[in-house]
Amino acid sequence: MLNIAIDGPAGAGKSTVAKAVAKDLGIIYLDTGAMYRATAYYALQQGVSVTDEDSVKKLLDTMSMDIVYENGEQQIYVNGLNTTPYLREHYMSKAASDISALPPVRYKMVELQRTFAKTHDVVLDGRDIGTFVLPDANCKFFLTATPEERATRRFKELKEKGQQVDYDKLLADIKQRDYNDSHREVAPLKQADDADFVDTTEMSIDVVIAHIKEVVHIKTKPNAQTDKRSEEKSVSERTLKRIKKYYLPQKRFGVYRFMRILLRPVQAIFWPTKIVNRQNGNIDGRAIYICNHYSKVDSLIPCFALFKKEAHILGKYELFKVPIAGWFLHKMGAIPVRRGEADISAVKSVLGVLKEDKKLMLFPEGTRNKSGSQEMAELKTGTARFAIKTKSPVVPMLYYSAPRLFRRNWLYIGEPFTLDEFYSARTPEQMHMATEVVREKMDETRRLCNEYVEGLKKGKKK
Ligand code: C5P
Repeated sequence: MLNIAIDGPAGAGKSTVAKAVAKDLGIIYLDTGAMYRATAYYALQQGVSVTDEDSVKKLLDTMSMDIVYENGEQQIYVNGLNTTPYLREHYMSKAASDISALPPVRYKMVELQRTFAKTHDVVLDGRDIGTFVLPDANCKFFLTATPEERATRRFKELKEKGQQVDYDKLLADIKQRDYNDSHREVAPLKQADDADFVDTTEMSIDVVIAHIKEVVHIKTKPNAQTDKRSEEKSVSERTLKRIKKYYLPQKRFGVYRFMRILLRPVQAIFWPTKIVNRQNGNIDGRAIYICNHYSKVDSLIPCFALFKKEAHILGKYELFKVPIAGWFLHKMGAIPVRRGEADISAVKSVLGVLKEDKKLMLFPEGTRNKSGSQEMAELKTGTARFAIKTKSPVVPMLYYSAPRLFRRNWLYIGEPFTLDEFYSARTPEQMHMATEVVREKMDETRRLCNEYVEGLKKGKKK
């Protein structure tokens, strides 16, 4: 059976994401929170306190719970009564949180959930699915967001439903529930070690859904297990951990500096490259450097020329698994990116670097130009997105031609520019328009670069 676990605190967007993923895969969605809510509802109906363990334990012996799907919607029947319409009241959240901390309740619900997962392909959302209920689930996610962001989302949701609520009270309730859920004795709210961590604070729900769907597709495609096994075989645990971690500011022990001193003369001999307009690259504070990309070596040439201490450069994920080279990339501050995916950890790392006022380099085409021609492929929207989100200047750079052994080449650094007219842009169309501007700047840099180099060549001939 296919089991997907989505855990996290209240208001992180779990149920929206779980429903979308279940729909996408054509499988069932099980809202486990509703099971605790239904238990609390039943206790309250029977006049039993939701914190009185002995009385609740007795009550459980008289309670049967059936989960059925009517028109694709989950319904929870307790002793034959459909409790579903009553479970979303605000006061039920606290009651569910209280009753869910009682061990007899947890054991009963967990047993029901495990039986359900054994007999259905299902996406489950909850607090303890990946850690306790289904530690062997096929995919696990841990979704979270700051309490303030979660309270704001809840506030808007209730307001849209016409309910009057106090934001401060909502926030206090959320914090209290977080505390209760993560401090209870049995199966507390916790991220499973092998869960994909997603902080949704600054993400739209559509982006979160796209990311999770993508990961699920990759992990559940027919040869995913073999892929995973071979990936694990080919690289060590430590390497995998290093790759999966977000970029964290850290002391780099001068590895990059040392390698720069060592390798720069080698590069100068084997790939002699003149840097034209170096002053354009001298920027105080954050900046995004973009460049055309032909070969593996061409990433190091601008890095060595412009970045003395560390070089945050976006590189394809697979490179980070190569022994020694992967370690060096990590030490120089490079960021692994999974191509063709909404790679959230890469995005977070990039934003982290720029928000620290550091410099980032990336190849806007997203891949190497293997034809070796001057023509650039279509640009990805990443440069524009990052430049807009962090209000960073962009420095266009262009190789005159593909670097070749012992052949003279030029790296032309164009005028830095900003995308300030797009700073309030959000929609995909606006990002495409901003990317068009980036493209125009690259085309302009190409024209200037060619003029410069061809002028030099002509001068020499004369
Ligand atoms: O997700 P929802 O807000 O509907 O959950 C209600 C309460 O049920 C949560 O605050 C939590 O205390 C509890 N719960 C749990 N374990 C789960 C799902 C929910 O303890 N798997």
